[in-house]
Amino acid sequence: MARNTDPVCKMCRREQMKLFLKGDRCFSPKCPIDRESLPPGMHGARRSKTSEYGIRLREKQKLKRFYGVLEAQFRRYYTLATRATGNTGEQLLSILERRLDNVVHRLGFAINRNSGRQMVAHGHVLVNGVKCDIPSMLVKPGDIIKVKTRDSSLKMARETLAKGSVRIPDFLELTGSQDAPEGRMTRIPSRQDVDERITDIREQLIIEIATR
Ligand code: SF4
Repeated sequence: MARNTDPVCKMCRREQMKLFLKGDRCFSPKCPIDRESLPPGMHGARRSKTSEYGIRLREKQKLKRFYGVLEAQFRRYYTLATRATGNTGEQLLSILERRLDNVVHRLGFAINRNSGRQMVAHGHVLVNGVKCDIPSMLVKPGDIIKVKTRDSSLKMARETLAKGSVRIPDFLELTGSQDAPEGRMTRIPSRQDVDERITDIREQLIIEIATR
């Protein structure tokens, strides 16, 4: 299971936006983006003019990094989005929102997607009562997502739910408690349900570069 192992704060500095990849630090004054750090690299300060292609590429990279997907998987999601009815860009965002690691995070069981991914990969999550350790699995409406009732599984979910820092979106419903975290997808996510921290993403530009 491949994943991007680049330093996470460097990715945010490259995109010049907060991608929330590092848990509590992202909400603290230690976040480099809050301290207005420059893009990485020796000439980070000098980069000024971006080409049309560069603008589209940055939008795509931003989206991939935010959801923690690599190029091959992105291409797969793009193909799925082109086959679905409706606006391809919006379908792409909807597919990304349906990833199991994202759903675990947005239900408030994990502080960010990386932690959600780890919880899933380590076998702490059940989908409809069956262990699922594939973070990229796409959740369907009606699916029940549950954290195993073992102490080691519950620890992270309890801590995150206690903090209450994750706002649960309308397409998900928290049905369990802190001691038995459980949630359900009520419907397919729409454009309005996309994580508010990335709502300004310009999906049309991403589709333009993906069709090349
Ligand atoms: Fe680092 Fe989080 Fe700030 Fe991004 S948002 S720069 S990951 S602390």
